[in-house]
Amino acid sequence: MSHIYLIGFMGSGKSTVGFALAARLGRPFIDLDRLVEERAGMPVSAIFDERGEEGFRNIEEALLAEVASARPAVVACGGGTILRDENRRVLKKSGTAVYLMVTPEEALARIGDAAGRPLLAADAAGMAPRILEARLSLYRAAADIVVDTVGRTVDEVVEGLVTVLGDVQEIVVSTAGSGRYPVVLGCGVLRDLGARMSAALGQAKTVVATDENVARLHLETAMRSLADAGVDATSVVVPPGESSKNWETAGRLLDRFAEAGLDRRGCVVALGGGVVGDLAGFAAATYMRGVSLVQAPTTLLAQVDSSIGGKTGVDLRAGKNLAGAFWQPAMVVSDIAALATLPDAEWSNGLVEAAKSALLAGETQTAALEKTAPRLVVRDAVATRAAIEASVRFKADVVAADAREEGPRECLNFGHTLGHALEAVIGYGVVSHGVAVAEGMRFAARLAEEIIGAPSSTTSRVAGLLDALAVPRLATRPSSAEELMQAMRIDKKARGGAVRFVLLREPGEWVVVPVEGGALRDALERWVDE
Ligand code: ADP
Ligand code: ZN
Repeated sequence: MSHIYLIGFMGSGKSTVGFALAARLGRPFIDLDRLVEERAGMPVSAIFDERGEEGFRNIEEALLAEVASARPAVVACGGGTILRDENRRVLKKSGTAVYLMVTPEEALARIGDAAGRPLLAADAAGMAPRILEARLSLYRAAADIVVDTVGRTVDEVVEGLVTVLGDVQEIVVSTAGSGRYPVVLGCGVLRDLGARMSAALGQAKTVVATDENVARLHLETAMRSLADAGVDATSVVVPPGESSKNWETAGRLLDRFAEAGLDRRGCVVALGGGVVGDLAGFAAATYMRGVSLVQAPTTLLAQVDSSIGGKTGVDLRAGKNLAGAFWQPAMVVSDIAALATLPDAEWSNGLVEAAKSALLAGETQTAALEKTAPRLVVRDAVATRAAIEASVRFKADVVAADAREEGPRECLNFGHTLGHALEAVIGYGVVSHGVAVAEGMRFAARLAEEIIGAPSSTTSRVAGLLDALAVPRLATRPSSAEELMQAMRIDKKARGGAVRFVLLREPGEWVVVPVEGGALRDALERWVDE
């Protein structure tokens, strides 16, 4: 059923990569433009001359539908295939769309090389740069995953695709007392949600909890997968955003579980970002004193961080995450393809947590992230998958060592001491979590120079990594150091008055230090006035 569609501008390597990828996977290869030419009995340029673009697109649409219902293939689409809504629907329904990314400059340069291909040359000549840009954003919108082809050989692109599309990774998280569970990481794994759940949990009655945005984009995939696996499932949808993470909404979920007839062997799927994960996880932890939970994270932040480790909860008027439970999931299903629809600001939030975990994990992880940062910014799937995997492995180790945050797990708070205070003072949703935490990491790095004598090279490393990941800077700093102090003291992680900071000496070498009021106030006052 599932095809691999390659989309992208001419010059992106669709045919070359497609041919090699098909051979590697032992699938048929179809070049849609060639197929159109075969059927019409004339070259594309002649079809354009005789029947116009409309005539060409009609043949193309009919043939795409035919290809889609035939056996799974690697299909190189035409440069303009995705212009028609109907074609985009076919791609969505029948396979995975891979956008082979090239910059407009690179694409034109490659086509320039192809002097013997008059069709491409003629086509490119007619493309004004602005039309080109518009086309490129359409590719991105139609794609399930992006693979950056600039600076990679055809073989490297093919190998990357084989890994990203073919390998499903299972990383095991072990927790003292709460058992072991797999984090299933791969492209399209949401389509296997039902099969994986029924294999691991039996065909337990299930409620899928999600928010309105995610429901629009990914709920159908999840529900169809559950139905196909014979799982009796219903869904409940809450408004998006942090404001849903409250007591009332948790109560609504609990009522819905009861209405759906969930019993003790029932299961809750949290399909969405950190908000849905915390909220639905908390409801699962309390319903009938706890039912099975499957985390299906759809934000980068949730995939690299919050879906793993069993923290669940809701906010109280007095502060964030003040009521909650440790409730480990039975499984985490992280579909990289589900991230394609994520807004840029959410992408950035996830990159910040990935940077946090790399810096805490050590030199190897930090260097790897520094190296792939430009590709992560353009959402290259090969780099993204590696970054998620590294973060998951790190988090799994931390959680295995300290499931209930009685010791080393506190390191995950790196950047979050000032980060949370900034969110509280500026306003949740006014400043994004990622921007606030990134600012917190920069601040903590400088504090580490003063308090533990960390080298300034570590500070530059932290700042450089966040810059390379294109994390936006805080627009305006709050004017009152005092207010920030207050917010830090209220944060539940403060112990007995002193504010605890995670400080880095070098990547991988961190300490948690209670910072005394006077020193902290001085540092904050300097920071505020900068
Ligand atoms: P976080 O994981 O950062 O805690 P939230 O759960 O608050 O995030 O989700 C952030 C926003 O992104 C919400 O508005 C949510 O509806 C939306 N969202 C989550 N997953 C996706 C997705 N895959 N595509 C598009 N939007 C998404
Ligand atoms: Zn965070």
